[in-house]
This record gives sequence, C-alpha cells and structure tokens, in this order.
Amino acid sequence: MIRTRVLRPNAAALAAAAKILRAGGLVAFPTETVYGLGARAYDASAARRVYKAKGRPADNPLIVHISDEAMLEDVVRQVPPLARKLMDAFWPGPLTLVLEKSARVPGAVTAGGLTVAVRCPGHPAARALIRALGEPIAAPSANLSGRPSPTTAAHVLRDLRGRVALILDGGSCRKGLESTIVDARGRRPVVLRPGTLTGETIARAAGVPLAAPGRAAPAAPGTRHRHYAPSCRVILAPPALVRRGALAGLGDIGTGLVHRTPWPGRRPAYARRVRGGVGAYAAALFSALRDAEAAGVQTLYVETVPDRGIGRAVMDRLRRAALL
Ligand code: AMP
Ligand code: MG
Repeated sequence: MIRTRVLRPNAAALAAAAKILRAGGLVAFPTETVYGLGARAYDASAARRVYKAKGRPADNPLIVHISDEAMLEDVVRQVPPLARKLMDAFWPGPLTLVLEKSARVPGAVTAGGLTVAVRCPGHPAARALIRALGEPIAAPSANLSGRPSPTTAAHVLRDLRGRVALILDGGSCRKGLESTIVDARGRRPVVLRPGTLTGETIARAAGVPLAAPGRAAPAAPGTRHRHYAPSCRVILAPPALVRRGALAGLGDIGTGLVHRTPWPGRRPAYARRVRGGVGAYAAALFSALRDAEAAGVQTLYVETVPDRGIGRAVMDRLRRAALL
C-alpha cells in the first residue's frame, strides 16, 4: 500500500505528478470523458503497474494520451489521410484513434498488439500534465477493472486508494462517458467503441460512410467483457414502464431520464432524475451507478434511452453494466 494524495491540479501539484510519472509511478488525472490512471507511455514497467493497480486483464490495451500533434510522430508509424482529417476536426477532444504503433511504444501498452490507441484530451489539466512530463501518458479509466468508470476524484479514491500515488482533482468530468474509439487506418472510419462524439458526426467530418467492425478491425477489446458494473444488480427499464409507475412494486431504486415522479405510491430508496437530454444523462450515468451502490441499493432499475446518437454510447455501457 502506498499513500494516496489528492490535490487540485495547480503548478506545484502538476510538477509533483510529473516527477512521480518520470520515476515510473502512477497518477490519476481528470479528462473531459472520465478520470484516467496514467503512467509514462514509453516505460513498459510503468504500464504494467497500471494493469496491476486496476486488476486489469492483460489483453485489454491502454490509450496513449498526447498534448499536441508533435507528440504523435513518436507514437505512430504513419498518419493516414483519414486520421489527419479526424484529428483536425475533433482534437483536442473525446476521440481516440487506432493507428499502427511505432517501435517506441512498448507492447505492455498495446497488450502485445501492433496498433496503438491515441487521443489528445481537451481537459486543460490533462494536457498540462502531459506537457509537464514532456511525453505521452498511457492511461485507461481510473477504476478497478469491471467497475463503473470514475467521473470524480472521489470515485477514483474509492477504487484506488493505496494503489495510486496521486489523484489530481479537477472536479466532475463534463462528458462522463469514455471516448469514441475509431480505427482510422483505412479509407473509412470504423467505430470500435461508441462515445459522446457520435458515428454520424464522425462520418460527416470524414466525408465517407462508416465501415462496420470486422475481422481487420474488431470491436475494442475492452468492449467484450462485463464492465461498468456497480455492486448492485442493474436492470434495464423501458421508459414507458418507468413513466407508468410499473416499477413501483418491483424494487427500491431507479435512476433515469424522467421528468415526473416515476413511482406513485412508493418512494424508492434512491432515485436520480436527470434533466437536460441524453447528453446530461450520459454525464450523470456512472456517478448515479456509484451513488446507488453507496446508498446500499440491491437492485437498480435504470431507464433506457433510444439507441441512437449519444444514446448509443449510453446503451452500450448500460447493457454491459446489466450483464449477469
Ligand atoms: P479504458 O480507457 O479503460 O476504456 O480502456 C481503453 C480502451 O481502449 C479499452 O476498451 C481498449 O480495448 C481500447 N483500446 C486500446 N488500444 C486499442 C487498440 N489498439 N485497438 C482497439 N482498441 C483499443
Ligand atoms: Mg475502462
């Protein structure tokens, strides 16, 4: 066990964080998507420490975070025209590109694969940290493997106290879901993991339709397993059921995009109503799952959203949180 410090990302904290990373240690940091658990990307033993701290399966690669495009040169072998277009349109931002890796990126980061996932985050603290290190940072989400991704420093502390030297506390993550992952090696973009940046928006910027994941570009490894799961049982509930109050007798909890009291005659032990559309729902989702768990809820009914646009990313996470 190591002592875990939590600090606001001011100049002194960023310098301390960079020092820890340079020495091969781990630092958790905020991004606009979720909190990341970072290690120096060019250091194989540091990357292995990330897997150990999270209990992450060795076949689930990390994302390399860069602060500007100049850093990309050392990370990838080449930048194909499609990748260039998407970077110009969406970086810095919640888009991760899968490209051929350079020799400098260790196999410990890519789970032995020849491709690397790379992203330039938009969060100022994330970019300041990468700049302070002067090198890319490899990071997955800063949760214990299988649990909901963290969207606050408190979530990170709950999972990784004693396993990470420093957590930079940048408040709540604006997007709240992990980045959209796109294989950008070919002529057409392949969405490997949906995110708040939608496939429709990506296709429009690319000027070509999306291609479906296939053998050459299978869905991201991390999307295969049960994931995003709180300790309570998660049951997906269609909005009509929630609105009619049909869940009243079934359980003790609900969270959802609902505008009226959904359980007439019975107060749930926990309820979180999110207003403001599906983007707000996405931003609140992981923290709602963790709050319900902390409230001691056993069975959690979660209202579903239409499976399109940002809703596709929400439903992707919900389905995996609900797998038995
Ligand atoms: P996390 O930030 O915890 O969501 O983990 C990073 C995600 O990126 C995982 O789901 C990985 O499977 C995915 N990923 C990382 N590298 C690659 C890659 N080379 N190809 C496809 N997916 C990747
Ligand atoms: Mg993760």
